[in-house]
Amino acid sequence: MGLGLGCYSWFRRITFAACVLCLGLTNSFAQETKPVHTVVVRAGRLFDPVAGRMLDRPVIVIVGSKIDSVSNGSTPSISGATLIDLGDATLLPGFIDVHTHLTSDAGSGGYEGLGISSPRAALLGAKNARLTLLAGFTTVRNVGAEGYSDVALRDAINAGDVIGPRMQVSGPPLGITGGHCDNSLLPFEFHYSAEGVADGPEAVMHRVREVIKYGADVIKFCASGGVFSKGDNPLLEQYSPAEMKVLVEESHRLGRKVATHAHSAISIKDAVRAGVDSIEHGIFLDDEGIALMREHNTFLVPTSYPLFWFEEHAPQMHLPPWVMEKSAIIIPAAKKNMTKAFHSGVRVALGTDAGVYPHGQNGGEFWSMVELGLTPTQALQSGTVNAAELMGWSDRIGAIHAGMLADMVAVKGDPLSDIRLLQHVQFVMKDGVVYKNEISGPNSAAQAR
Ligand SMILES: [Zn+2]
Repeated sequence: MGLGLGCYSWFRRITFAACVLCLGLTNSFAQETKPVHTVVVRAGRLFDPVAGRMLDRPVIVIVGSKIDSVSNGSTPSISGATLIDLGDATLLPGFIDVHTHLTSDAGSGGYEGLGISSPRAALLGAKNARLTLLAGFTTVRNVGAEGYSDVALRDAINAGDVIGPRMQVSGPPLGITGGHCDNSLLPFEFHYSAEGVADGPEAVMHRVREVIKYGADVIKFCASGGVFSKGDNPLLEQYSPAEMKVLVEESHRLGRKVATHAHSAISIKDAVRAGVDSIEHGIFLDDEGIALMREHNTFLVPTSYPLFWFEEHAPQMHLPPWVMEKSAIIIPAAKKNMTKAFHSGVRVALGTDAGVYPHGQNGGEFWSMVELGLTPTQALQSGTVNAAELMGWSDRIGAIHAGMLADMVAVKGDPLSDIRLLQHVQFVMKDGVVYKNEISGPNSAAQAR
């Protein structure tokens, strides 16, 4: 019996080894025979965010998912290549949004949001991921989702099950009991806490490890109160400096960057001192905070378009009085302080907070940042090369250079003269695949699905 089991065991091992070998051969054979497609894209201008200038008559050769070469002038003849001629259009790197909420919709917060399950949120995410990609955003950072619906969405996009931008995700955002990243809508007898709640340095350390275990690429936490959270105050600090220090140290030790929701001046400064990588919103940023951010090379993610969108649409939204009271204080302060920050030379990465307003309108952030004081070139840099740096992906996205992933968008006209053109892109390519082409051809991939 013992010998028999042993033989069986060996038989299984040998069979398993043979299967592994067989699969390996099959895979390498498949890789060798899979044709690598070459695409040549031609346009009127190309925006290079690294140099901060336009290149005339660009010709980009794409092999598979990557950019092989960028030149200008005559088009090389490559046998078997597909030519995409975008005429006089301006070609830009695929846009990057470092602050989005794909798994939630505008107006589905508050008590209505309590009835949305995590699977339902993931499906909302599939809808919104498509809208975001077709708006020209080929990469996003999703900062805050209950039930890891963002992890599911990221993995579904990577597997090719649904179309959407390349994603970094945070899972549930960390926060104090009763803070902006908790949920205080239900009374005590429901004993409800949001999944990311953690109080005290040890609990914070555990929670950082937990969200990484379940798939977080980046850590999001709430350092101050917010607008849409009941019973807290955006002018105060929530996490203590000691908790923030542990949170950032543990995240960095495990190779994750840290995105920080921070409104109050004190929370911004303590978060920057703790070493966070980005301050999101930064509404009450003061001169000392600006100096600290410059010293620590911390990115500001201003999420400015919602300020304008909210002013226009809030009166029709029937929001609770406490939301309206907070926003009446926050919106004018934000506009004033963002303008000061933009003129101070603080580094800016584009984040839209889409989900507070409808997904697919993300391009409005370019316009609103220009409205508040960035130049069109700086606004475009914030949504390309700067955002890529904040995400730790400067080697693959954020510019149309040889060796980078073939993510690009195009608009008719010159967006440096009219920044609003970026709100309606006419061509979208991600990883060398065309998802939208209203300039020279049908929407191939987007229509095929
Ligand atoms: Zn947000």
